[in-house]
Amino acid sequence: MDNKRKGLNTICTHVGELEDTVHKGAVSPLYMSTSYAFDDVDVKRYPRYFNTPNQEGLCKKIAALEHAEAALIFGSGMAAVSTALMAFLRAGDHVVLQQTLYGGTYNLVTEEFDKYGIAYSFTHGWEPKDFEEKIHKNTKVIYIETPSNPLLTITDIEGVAAVAKRHGIVSMIDNTFASPVNQNPIDFGIDVVIHSATKYMGGHSDICAGAVASTQEHMNRIFHLAKNFGGSLSDYTVWLLERSIKTMALRVRAQNENALLMAKYLETHNDIDAVYYPGLASHRDHELAKRQMKGFGGMLSFELKPYLDASLFQKSLELIKSSMSLAGVESTVLSPTKTSHALMSPEVREEQGIKDGLIRFSVGIEEVEDLIVDIESALKIVKNRISANI
Ligand SMILES: *Cc1c(COP(=O)(O)O)cnc(C)c1O
Repeated sequence: MDNKRKGLNTICTHVGELEDTVHKGAVSPLYMSTSYAFDDVDVKRYPRYFNTPNQEGLCKKIAALEHAEAALIFGSGMAAVSTALMAFLRAGDHVVLQQTLYGGTYNLVTEEFDKYGIAYSFTHGWEPKDFEEKIHKNTKVIYIETPSNPLLTITDIEGVAAVAKRHGIVSMIDNTFASPVNQNPIDFGIDVVIHSATKYMGGHSDICAGAVASTQEHMNRIFHLAKNFGGSLSDYTVWLLERSIKTMALRVRAQNENALLMAKYLETHNDIDAVYYPGLASHRDHELAKRQMKGFGGMLSFELKPYLDASLFQKSLELIKSSMSLAGVESTVLSPTKTSHALMSPEVREEQGIKDGLIRFSVGIEEVEDLIVDIESALKIVKNRISANI
């Protein structure tokens, strides 16, 4: 059966699995070898060539998940982002990037690209026309992220891919927030899909990895640079990631469901000023999100009323931990201005609408009732503090 025609849970569970021919075990055997005898003079397996048995198996699974011809797995999300970008950019080239980007990608571009002679522009919005107006003669890549971090803006994937095609430019997307369960950008014409597999693919906050998916032709170019840059993933982590992805669709669908319920609860709450979640009818791009997403994801953000102390609120949560990263089965919150976007100037943050009281919420798989009890008791502590001070 063709991998692309299999259902999502079947791909997650079975595509790319290695057969245990010796013991008939249920899971893929783990091959830790860094040295393999030649089959033939030209067959070289080596971890940094991304072609050990476990690496090849997992790449097949990720390619099938993203409806791509090929995939490659990296040692981190940023290894995937940097290798994909640099594979299509050289001195004298220009890249157009979405204004709202993951902090690490923003840092990569603003701190490193100058010294390679690569020019870049950030858009002033996220409509296809905002990307088109930044294109120069030497533009080689357009790079988007949707839903974005931390305000969950939605970029029109098909619209931007069409702009890129019209100008003969390679289009790339960071698909981390959606995961392949909720969004398959290649179906909308995107050339290169990137994931921090540290997030929903891993899903248990215990793996650091990245992935890229594309046509075989684009992948040949990415692979060439990848083996020179050397950002491959250890086979043990590859094996763990394969195991994690088996339950990815189950986890992410549970997180979609919980996030929607939490967004609806927060939206009508008297102590909350705003909720950003693409699954809410009140989200400015809800209709667009419905067209390009199969589920709205487990990420949302919200603003407390300005008179409520957001730091005290975060500290008062017990079940929901304040922590870096996202997408684990456990719910977490963070303050973007104090963490992921701390290096950004207050002016740039202001322009992007990231307020000090904003809280980013990565919704896990706990019972929604327990999450609500936790939020209510934290709000009570914050409000008691105000009355005590009056
Ligand atoms: C975490 C993240 C990355 C970077 O991934 P690492 O695995 O931390 O290197 C890139 N993009 C997005 C959207 C992320 O959330």
